[in-house]
Amino acid sequence: TLPTPEAHLRAVAAIVERRSPGESEFLQAVREVLETLEPVLAEHPEFIEAGILDRLVEPERQFVFRVPWTDDQNRVRVNRGIRVQFNSALGPYKGGLRFHPSVNLSVIKFLGFEQIFKNALTSQRIGGGKGGADFDPNGKSDAEVMRFCQSFMTELAHHIGEHTDIPAGDIGVGGREIGYLFGQYRRIMQRYEAGVLTGKGVGWGGAEVRTEATGYGAVFFAEEMLARAGQGIEGRRALVSGSGNVATYAIEKVQQLGGKAITASDSSGYIVDEAGIDLDLLKQVKDVERARISEYAQRRPGSHFVADGTVWDVPAELAFPCATQNELSGANARTLIANGVRAVTEGANMPTMPDAVELFQDAGVLFAPGKAANAGGVATSALEMSQNAARSRWDRDKSESRLHGIMRDVHETTFAASERYGKPGDYVLGANSAAFVTVAQAMLAQGV
Ligand code: GLU
Repeated sequence: TLPTPEAHLRAVAAIVERRSPGESEFLQAVREVLETLEPVLAEHPEFIEAGILDRLVEPERQFVFRVPWTDDQNRVRVNRGIRVQFNSALGPYKGGLRFHPSVNLSVIKFLGFEQIFKNALTSQRIGGGKGGADFDPNGKSDAEVMRFCQSFMTELAHHIGEHTDIPAGDIGVGGREIGYLFGQYRRIMQRYEAGVLTGKGVGWGGAEVRTEATGYGAVFFAEEMLARAGQGIEGRRALVSGSGNVATYAIEKVQQLGGKAITASDSSGYIVDEAGIDLDLLKQVKDVERARISEYAQRRPGSHFVADGTVWDVPAELAFPCATQNELSGANARTLIANGVRAVTEGANMPTMPDAVELFQDAGVLFAPGKAANAGGVATSALEMSQNAARSRWDRDKSESRLHGIMRDVHETTFAASERYGKPGDYVLGANSAAFVTVAQAMLAQGV
């Protein structure tokens, strides 16, 4: 006889823990999903029977490879490259590459696991994958970044393809890196396969609004979530953490919708600008000059830089964690709640620690998990793939309106699933259950 949903979930969790000792980020991401699936399995015993979860928690394939390169002093350096091809039931593996010293197999597996669900929610027929390297682009010359990217792609090229696995950017991988990676792929394979990477320059196969899409999409999701609760963004103060492309374009969209985004951060600290962040200056400091964020406060009267603490210490009604995983703790959540926060929307992947999520939900704060809220980036990557396949190029208006429509659908689907499984407005339950059912049905149909 079939185990009960509860017993099945416990058994799957035990297997993952046994197989992944020390992989704390991956275990955290898996637990968060498993904790929400009991009502889904109760409705779908066939998923238990077909071992869907047993299969879903094990990547289909993973590559770990050496990335040797030469620095500007002619010294040989070695980094570790990783690509995890997690699940391809809905389409080719799709997910970004992260270049950051904190990258290891656990981090890439957590990101790849989340990507399966996120990608399912976009309805764009893409599977889940992720990759990266423990390379730190900070302080590296342009030529060093180029040589690193070329070496990384020299190995990766053999494992990807427009119908197989389509990487994109993530932390530390932006337009510059995608350019160098694409150039090397083209040379090695001797083919111009535009759809093999997304996030390309708009002049050579990239999609309009891809750079802005994750940040814009998170704000569109927040707008829908707030509207459903009879609230809005206009006139509200918003905290944004991070200063990469997710944070930058979340700030831009908050401001376009009449809200006031007053913070941004990097690993050295954060800035507060009560007049609202000056986006041109932020882009100049972080994107063009690749300088520390304290530069912003130096040049902008009325703003200030804080070296310790977090943006979550600043009072505001809206919060958008857009930096990195586990950046918002239970203690931060208590401060935000005491200061009257109404909605927390994850622009980054898994930025909110599990105890903080629970605190928000118990306090009645609207909470949007990254799987749903930051899906606009990868959704627009899928639109880029469509344009590449059709050899076409959409204008900005069409691109942004497609993104907006997708984010409305993601919100609708997620909310509907939260109702169906008994907790209306629990977007964690909604995102996990809606995405899981979509992937599980595809896996069931396609056999073992
Ligand atoms: N790295 C982004 C994410 O976390 C985007 C991935 C992509 O566009 O493939 O979803």
